[in-house]
Amino acid sequence: MDRDRILLTPGPLTTTLRTKLAMLRDWGSWDADFNAVTARVRQRLLEIVHGQDSHVVVPLQGSGTFSVEAAVATVTPRDAHILVPDNGAYCKRAGKLSQMMGRRVTLLPVAEDEPISAAAVEACLTADPSLTHVILIHCETGTGVENPLKDIAALCERHGKGLIVDAMSSFAALPIDARSTRFDALIAASGKCLEGVPGMGFVFIRKAVLDGCAGHSHSLAMDLHDQWAYMEKTGQWRFTPPTHVVAALDEAITQFVEEGGQPARLARYQANGRALVDGMAALGFKVFLRPQVQAPIIYTFHAPGHAAYDFKRFYAGAKARGFMLYPGKLTQVETFRVGCIGAIGPNEMRQAVLAVSETLGEMGIASGAPAL
Ligand SMILES: *Cc1c(COP(=O)(O)O)cnc(C)c1O
Repeated sequence: MDRDRILLTPGPLTTTLRTKLAMLRDWGSWDADFNAVTARVRQRLLEIVHGQDSHVVVPLQGSGTFSVEAAVATVTPRDAHILVPDNGAYCKRAGKLSQMMGRRVTLLPVAEDEPISAAAVEACLTADPSLTHVILIHCETGTGVENPLKDIAALCERHGKGLIVDAMSSFAALPIDARSTRFDALIAASGKCLEGVPGMGFVFIRKAVLDGCAGHSHSLAMDLHDQWAYMEKTGQWRFTPPTHVVAALDEAITQFVEEGGQPARLARYQANGRALVDGMAALGFKVFLRPQVQAPIIYTFHAPGHAAYDFKRFYAGAKARGFMLYPGKLTQVETFRVGCIGAIGPNEMRQAVLAVSETLGEMGIASGAPAL
């Protein structure tokens, strides 16, 4: 097969040839040419959320979780009390990393197939005035559910609480406007809906809280205030930057702008999601979430109820046909996930459905319908 396999995973994901080609150069980490790339990336990231006036953006080496950890370490004081509404795996991860850094954490458990309710968050904030911050996962990638960012931001503002948003899998696809949605920090990464390659995250920090962040971090490498101050002063990253990743992200953002920005990207992902869900439904598969709460980023499907189903074989069959699926992340029900983000369109999604159909045939499974 001369085509790269299509990654139906929510990062790393399929990138364009242009983005891959942008990595064929070596850059000096403190050379002016590379500093200009970093500056351009930061400027254009701010424009995507309309945060030029209100926020700074601080890039950080590492996978997305490094940036979530750095955001919590930097933005919250060590005696913070953080509410983490929890409807999935990434919520639990945010709670755990906050707790490991010594922050007091209260989890608000929510059903995995339901969005976080602003009313339930408000009840917690009212009941316990010692809470200082909320961490919200915008799109919970564990299931694909979209959480109500605007409502939670409005109520944090009303209650005078800080808000940290993990927008890793939603940024650049779902609308986020810093002019109307107040957050202290919002985190995303290179290898998700901007369709860059993995290797760096970035955190938008509200200017009004930035100065107060100095000295919060327990960690030198994770200190975003220090990273920001150094970058402002020198134009450089504090420590070795992921140069090829930054160059690829710069090229990926150019294509994002050419495509028509966030609305165009959302429209393509919605079309991908429709092609996927319609095709899978015709094979008998059932989506885990109701359509009203589903973000067009990643879809969780119930595993087929047929006795011959085995995820490993199913995965191998789809892979042999050029498509990489993603395991489920739920503990109660057997599922698998299919991402519809990346440099792919509805044609690739229809081909993916065909690959799934052939794989089922090979496994002797007549229908993707789940067990009742
Ligand atoms: C991808 C993702 C992350 C970061 O995961 P890494 O594996 O560290 O890149 C964090 N939160 C959400 C919601 C994500 O989708």
